[in-house]
Amino acid sequence: MFYLPFSYDEPLFRPPSEAYSLIFQLTIGCSWNKCAFCEMYTSKNFKVRKEAEVYAEIDQAKDLANDTRKIFLADGNAFVLSSDKLIRILNKLNQSFPRLARISAYASSRDILSKTNEELVQLRNAGLKLLYVGIESGDDELLKMADKGETYNSTEEALLKARNAGIKLSVMILIGLGGKHFSNQHSINSAKLINSIQPEYLSTLVLSLPHGINHFKKRFNGEFVQLSSYELIEELGLFLQELNLVSTVFRSDHASNYLVLKGILDRDNEILVNRINDFLQNPQEDKLRPEWSRGL
Ligand code: SF4
Repeated sequence: MFYLPFSYDEPLFRPPSEAYSLIFQLTIGCSWNKCAFCEMYTSKNFKVRKEAEVYAEIDQAKDLANDTRKIFLADGNAFVLSSDKLIRILNKLNQSFPRLARISAYASSRDILSKTNEELVQLRNAGLKLLYVGIESGDDELLKMADKGETYNSTEEALLKARNAGIKLSVMILIGLGGKHFSNQHSINSAKLINSIQPEYLSTLVLSLPHGINHFKKRFNGEFVQLSSYELIEELGLFLQELNLVSTVFRSDHASNYLVLKGILDRDNEILVNRINDFLQNPQEDKLRPEWSRGL
């Protein structure tokens, strides 16, 4: 345990699997910052931090955490930076942390598409081995209503491009995003997109409304009727049933999930679907995370 001699521009977010990673903020906020369901960076104006400031923090951290194995680049989409800038920073990290095994960052599809195939390979070779991408949905109608700024095609193209460059992918689907009206098409089209991409890691999060449903409805450009806990799990079940993956690590263990599931898909697909069906046939509040249960 050590204390870093610099502070972060809060709030700071990172994926659950980066809990033990050293984090450097290359950017502040999210360059898009418009998604109807996302409040992560609404308190921040997007900005790119000065390279000299980041280098100073790396220099401060390297003596304290010299055996660092994993580094996560924040904030919302540090991958928006130019390839030249990212490669300079990756090189600096590799020089400063000799045992470094992996560098990762959040990225949007447009950040990936703005880079050439060669640049993506260079970034991979410089240690950027994993990108986290919030796909949210594979349904174009829903992506538009949520103002994600991406489509099925842009997401598919970007993520296949990153995969072809050797970058691993950890992608997220947002259960409940379309409410009752769009639940079926959300599940089916999201599974279709995931099947096409074949990511190494897949997780589901559940739509959370920290500012209340009316706040969300003002931002969501469509009719929204919130799903109950039971319906959210039905939606998750349909999504899982439609998946056809070869070897993807699946998790629904983010704090927003009602039912925690873990497995390798396709290997464990039947087990997970059976768990969901068992719950749906015999729904009991005590099988759900109590803090999230909002009525079956
Ligand atoms: S979901 Fe991602 S892209 Fe959308 S506003 Fe939030 S951080 Fe930005």
